[in-house]
Amino acid sequence: MNAVLQPAARRAIRELPGELISQIAAGEVVERPASVVRELVDNALDAGAGEIVVRLGGGGIRSIVVEDDGHGIVAEELPLALRRHATSKIASLEDLEGVVTMGFRGEALAAIASVADLALASRTRETAHAMRLDARTGELRPAPRAVGTSIEVRELFFNTPARRKFLKTESTELAHCLEAVRRHALTRPDVGFEVWHDGRAMAQWRPCEPERRVADVLGSDFLAASRPVALDLGVLRLSGRAGTPESARSRADHQYVYVNGRHVRDKLIAHGVRAAYEDVLHGGRQPAYLLFVDIAAERVDVNVHPAKVEVRFRDSREIHQAVRRAVEAALAVPRATDSGVGPGDDALAAGAGMSPAPRTAAPAGGVFGPQQPLVLRAEENLAHWAPTLPPSASHTNAWPDAGDGDAHADAARRAALDQSGADAPLGQAIAQLAGAFILAENAQGLVIVDMHAAHERIVYERLKSTRAGSETDMQPLLIPALFAATAQEIATAETQVEELRKLGLDIAPLSATTLAVRAQPAALAGCDVVALARGVLADLSRYGASGAIARARDEILSTMACHGAIRANRTLRLDEMNALLRDMERTERADQCNHGRPTWRQITRKELDGLFWRGR
Ligand code: ADP
Ligand code: MG
Repeated sequence: MNAVLQPAARRAIRELPGELISQIAAGEVVERPASVVRELVDNALDAGAGEIVVRLGGGGIRSIVVEDDGHGIVAEELPLALRRHATSKIASLEDLEGVVTMGFRGEALAAIASVADLALASRTRETAHAMRLDARTGELRPAPRAVGTSIEVRELFFNTPARRKFLKTESTELAHCLEAVRRHALTRPDVGFEVWHDGRAMAQWRPCEPERRVADVLGSDFLAASRPVALDLGVLRLSGRAGTPESARSRADHQYVYVNGRHVRDKLIAHGVRAAYEDVLHGGRQPAYLLFVDIAAERVDVNVHPAKVEVRFRDSREIHQAVRRAVEAALAVPRATDSGVGPGDDALAAGAGMSPAPRTAAPAGGVFGPQQPLVLRAEENLAHWAPTLPPSASHTNAWPDAGDGDAHADAARRAALDQSGADAPLGQAIAQLAGAFILAENAQGLVIVDMHAAHERIVYERLKSTRAGSETDMQPLLIPALFAATAQEIATAETQVEELRKLGLDIAPLSATTLAVRAQPAALAGCDVVALARGVLADLSRYGASGAIARARDEILSTMACHGAIRANRTLRLDEMNALLRDMERTERADQCNHGRPTWRQITRKELDGLFWRGR
């Protein structure tokens, strides 16, 4: 008989020994060396450290030492620091509501001490030397040390072999430890960080300006290929950077979210970000982003997760929408308007680390961390390109006052320039290539535009934003366009009259095999209406029910835009090309077509010179 099925013998109910409680708790807090690093660095930051040194041995499995120059712990309190639920950070329930420190559960050190050898040495400003406490032996003795605290953790999980077995290789654990420090470093540029592994320096980040730290930690490539996020709703502020769709990665490894300075993994926020990229990113690609959410303490509960990586918002819809809006706004600034720094240029070297702030949101002076306000600077570039931007941008910087002279002539000159693009980000059209590309010259060099892809995006954005392609935008055709239709197409036209009208189309059956397009959206004037009608009918029959159609509206508009966009092999005149370039500069998200492909590329003078070995 199977032993497992036998009723177990009754055992007496007992209180668990403290050590065992700690070990169970440790299971939640300490998953791997990186969790220890995170907790110890949290504590150092809470102690007001300005410099934090992390020394790792054997991937952090053999040893982790974290040294700080914070305010230290007085000798009498050293043993308390190791006790469960002992904390200096909250004393009352009210405190719980407004915690601004990194941690307050008072169990990290106790948990770590229960699964590893732990010693702590600390000195406050009032004392002449440090005191060192060995958690295992309880021995307390003087030790040499400057003001601050060192915590040494050795042989993680030595007493819980099952858990030690679950650790990965040293190099994997080391990578996780480094990532833990990176997360802190990104949110606290005012603090210096050093990481050493087996005596070798792995990372060294000096205290610096926020954008410098982003470049130090995530690389100047990320800085160059991302846009500032800034949204200030008073109780809720968002800041950070959103990577351009072209810089998206195959892995989700460059996605950092902070709530009130604390790194979190939050599905809601991640979803909001994802939604913002929906229109511009290829399916499987992962955007890179760094997002700081600063929210009034009473609107968020940070105490729901033992390792503090999850939070709960009072109003999740508000957060989701704000994140989506802020990231969308960041991405919507046409790159063509930011100083023309092309992909791959070193933005730091070019002094263009921060591209213009989104037009829809004022720079929030968003917060990088509790102590470190980050002001995302709106560069002068915006004003510089004023002629191609909507009226919100001031013209005065770019166009010196004509005095009391002829404002009219000034406007005319502006219009002429606007048209020719002599000074515009995407430059002046010089030729059409292979029936598919526009070549243009701008201040940086050569611009190559994929005609169809660019126009498609422009038409799509127009359809979306002006609610063109809606009933009010219907334009009757003088001569209805007739076409031979399939039974399926005729059935769809008959059953989806309303949906078609909402999209600006009037398609009526003329016979059992013929459909007539009697009106089309004005925004698509001049397109092949029959192809448009067929495309939309196909979409409608695919999405079927009207709920699904409403949800798929953007996709249907995208189909329509594709039909409305200029086809390859159409010869464009120079003024038509220039008009398209100017349209791109005015259009949100013009850097990608609806399918996420780039619409234009810059080849700089330097690259051209390089091709011909000039200046060698
Ligand atoms: P918590 O951080 O949740 O309070 P911990 O177990 O992490 O709990 O730490 C317990 C207490 O030890 C802290 O509240 C703090 O007073 C003290 N402490 C821990 N690390 C440091 C440090 N690096 N510098 C100064 N005090 C520290
Ligand atoms: Mg702590």
